[in-house]
Amino acid sequence: MESSVRIAMAGFNLESVSFLPEVTSIADFQHNETRGNEILRRFRGSNTVMGGFIDACEEAGFDMLPIVMTEAGARGSAADPAFDHYADVIITALTAARPDIDGVLLHLHGAMTTPTRTDPDRDILEMVRSAVGPDMPVMLALDYHANLDAASIAPANATFGYHYSPHVDMGETGRRAGRCLARTLRGDVAPVTAIAKPGIMVPSILSATSLHPLRDFVERSLALSRDNPAIIDVTVFAGFSYADVPNCGFSVVVVTDGDVALAESTARDLSAGLHAKRTDLYKPGFARPLPEALDHALGLARSATAPVVILEHADRMNDSTHVLRALVERNVTRAAVPYLYDPESAEAACKAGAGNTIRLRLGGKSDARAGGPVEVEAEILWAGHKTYVGTGPMRKGNHVDVGLAALLRVGGITVSVTQVPTTAIDEDPFIQFGLEARDFDLVVLRSKTHFRAVWEPLAAEIVIADTPDWGPADLLTLPYRHVPRDTTYPFNELG
Ligand SMILES: [Zn+2]
Repeated sequence: MESSVRIAMAGFNLESVSFLPEVTSIADFQHNETRGNEILRRFRGSNTVMGGFIDACEEAGFDMLPIVMTEAGARGSAADPAFDHYADVIITALTAARPDIDGVLLHLHGAMTTPTRTDPDRDILEMVRSAVGPDMPVMLALDYHANLDAASIAPANATFGYHYSPHVDMGETGRRAGRCLARTLRGDVAPVTAIAKPGIMVPSILSATSLHPLRDFVERSLALSRDNPAIIDVTVFAGFSYADVPNCGFSVVVVTDGDVALAESTARDLSAGLHAKRTDLYKPGFARPLPEALDHALGLARSATAPVVILEHADRMNDSTHVLRALVERNVTRAAVPYLYDPESAEAACKAGAGNTIRLRLGGKSDARAGGPVEVEAEILWAGHKTYVGTGPMRKGNHVDVGLAALLRVGGITVSVTQVPTTAIDEDPFIQFGLEARDFDLVVLRSKTHFRAVWEPLAAEIVIADTPDWGPADLLTLPYRHVPRDTTYPFNELG
């Protein structure tokens, strides 16, 4: 019987920093787009939601109809034509396939914006529901940084999010959603979902699930579904504070087997617990002003036996130059600045070729807040199109394509530039260029939480520097227009 069950799968992902002037185009999405059965070949066995969907479908003996998987990382809003394009791709395929499919597995981020939409993920989900009708099971897998309210998830039968940041459980999240779909189709469960919001926003760097007290809430959420067979799944979502939207911030989503009251009370209790700890969850004082952070890091680096990380955490496009400029001015040596997003410099270096020295205006071009380009003389150590299969715990098995790239020597600083914004989170930005991370005294990173899986054990210390970029520690400094300040911490109590 089950061999005739057929599941449609689609993914459309972007985390939008809605303050950035740049919009994310169709071409930006197409850079990391896979269609049809190629999705099975590319994602099977990887730590991705799509990989998890495939696992669950193969476990259950389901046939699969993979439609599209595209993701553009974290950058500005999706251009409206890009939203329309992918909505059309997904809805056209579902409409055509509807008589022949039994369920849908959908992978969205949950923090996309477009210039005209504050919850395009909800809009896609609503379109999917109308395309497949009211009775077909639709399971939704979201990023832990999704901004949600009741309407965002209402059209899905059940919603699942990553439990951890770093997102080491992306594949597992796909499997949770896929297995729930299998149980639903077998008639073993009838999922219902509830959501509650504690009214809290935190900078992304404070969404790391290794931090207290957040870790306690994640552990509680996992224990709930482990200890109570009626609770199918619980996710604590941290939200994404750099998308200016009405449903910004934390939420708790609970999926139970047919028990609406249990789902609601469980979500409400966890949410109330988070609200009670709001002043411990949002503590903007963790970052040092840049000069102080640099002095501290350089002091440590003199005697450390492992690299010291300077975290330029407020950077949102991987192109901030506040730290790089300071390093150049101070003539720092044995320092690495991996994966600076700078398509112009990557292209110029590829044109000039390895072995040559050229003048470049490095980084800082995405927005005035990024710090502006740093004028340098750069020796090109390597240049070309860089693709590889990720080796770190989060990107393991993932196909990574940073576009044109170059490895540069700028005085005593080793800089790699990429054509596609890619956050350095593991050792691949070194390994894939024939470098060894431990050979550097100082490493500049820009990741918020994902780097911790590799760099917490690797680094001598992580020194967090605050800069005036679009992802600051102090949320009160951002020009929000859509966030409901009167019901959201910190605005309602500290603003
Ligand atoms: Zn995330």
